[in-house]
Amino acid sequence: MSLFKNQLCVGCGLCESVTNGKVKMTLDPDGFFRPKKTQEVPANEYRFIKQCCPAAIIHKDESLRTPHTDPFWGDYFQCYIGSSSSDAIEKEASSGGIISTILIFLLENKIIDYVIHIGPDPENPLLNTVKLSSNSKEVLANADSRYAPSTALTNILQIIENGKHYAFVGKPCDVSALRSYSKFNQAVANQIKYYFSFFCFGVPSLNQTKKLTVQLGIQEEQVQSIVYRKNGWPGSFNVAAKDGTCKSILYKDYMHFLFSDIHIRCKICPEGLGESADISSGDGWSEFDEKGYPSFKNARGRSIIFSKTHVGDKLLSKIINAGHISIEEQVEDLRSLDKIQPGQFGKKKYHKYRILAFKISGKKTPKIDSYIYKNIHVLGKVNLRTKLSQLIGTWKRINLK
Ligand SMILES: Cc1cc2nc3c(=O)[nH]c(=O)nc-3n(C[C@H](O)[C@H](O)[C@H](O)COP(=O)(O)OP(=O)(O)OC[C@H]3O[C@@H](n4cnc5c(N)ncnc54)[C@H](O)[C@@H]3O)c2cc1C
Repeated sequence: MSLFKNQLCVGCGLCESVTNGKVKMTLDPDGFFRPKKTQEVPANEYRFIKQCCPAAIIHKDESLRTPHTDPFWGDYFQCYIGSSSSDAIEKEASSGGIISTILIFLLENKIIDYVIHIGPDPENPLLNTVKLSSNSKEVLANADSRYAPSTALTNILQIIENGKHYAFVGKPCDVSALRSYSKFNQAVANQIKYYFSFFCFGVPSLNQTKKLTVQLGIQEEQVQSIVYRKNGWPGSFNVAAKDGTCKSILYKDYMHFLFSDIHIRCKICPEGLGESADISSGDGWSEFDEKGYPSFKNARGRSIIFSKTHVGDKLLSKIINAGHISIEEQVEDLRSLDKIQPGQFGKKKYHKYRILAFKISGKKTPKIDSYIYKNIHVLGKVNLRTKLSQLIGTWKRINLK
């Protein structure tokens, strides 16, 4: 089957860039971007795409493997809980402002020329687009967690300029696709100096964002701007209309709705903690309800931070030593963090039963590197009831939607 007809495509857009537009990412009615061929794709271009496309392969390069591997959290050098030392950055960012702090450090110290990342599309504020940021103001304008599809690699080869150095921020699948492609492309290999990612539970359909704005009383055509997580932690979804009306809803009151329709490939994604990034971070929830779930009470942003490669570890130490990131704890016992990310934990622990649901349904899954699932039995036994609910839940998602 052609990769371009694969329902597992999560819309990174690498194929559009590699084929220089012979394939175009197009928004489907279900609210996800998928490739549409506009011209024939030469065999050599198709071959490269096939070896990197997140719908076809989930691969961890051997050169990225580290001495420490945790069955849930994956490869890492160090793990910290902390946040940006700057209140101004933390306020604009999604969680503890870790990613933006690192990006600003790299730009201000002239270690890179540009950041390639995702931000709101000025032409259609409901959509995301690729941004090139060269200073702290631009970095902070694009801080946030944009819980909607983002085609982060759609023009990656077209924007890399000779002689310039870059950091790339993307979802874990974007990062692993670009890492894989760097093997075939000198500009990517030599000019993208750092890869950063965040924990990613999955990409919600754009239709969820649209429905949420309508529920808040603002019609799609009236939307002027959307932010998902600024102003506080975990912050709120804020939508502004062209007539000046502003509506907002707290994270705890909208996140279940947005994440109730995530991409099918995200249900079986084993690399949601940023497996191929140099540094990855996520929400470091600290308060929990009676069922043990994060209570999402408003506080100053707090992040879990992993240095996942040697390059990332050196950079993170430098930034911490320079005082830009304040560390609350260096984490030795990673099991103490598992309950902070219950959704991610389940995804890793129950992956076998979800994959089985795909097989029973006659659906392909990406070819997954078994290294990523090394020692997951350590995460505990799965009882029969849970096995069945994971299997049936995934089967229904594939077949009845
Ligand atoms: C779809 C999605 C799912 C997530 N799931 C989880 C989860 O399960 N657990 C968890 O702890 N955290 C999750 N997060 C991450 C979390 O919301 C924060 O982004 C993360 O903690 C980093 O915070 P920060 O303050 O360091 O980042 P910031 O300083 O705010 O920087 C965020 C960076 O991420 C980039 N970015 C934002 N949205 C996207 C996007 N859609 N695609 C590509 N790049 C983007 C921005 O351009 C920016 O550079 C998710 C984020 C997204 C977008």
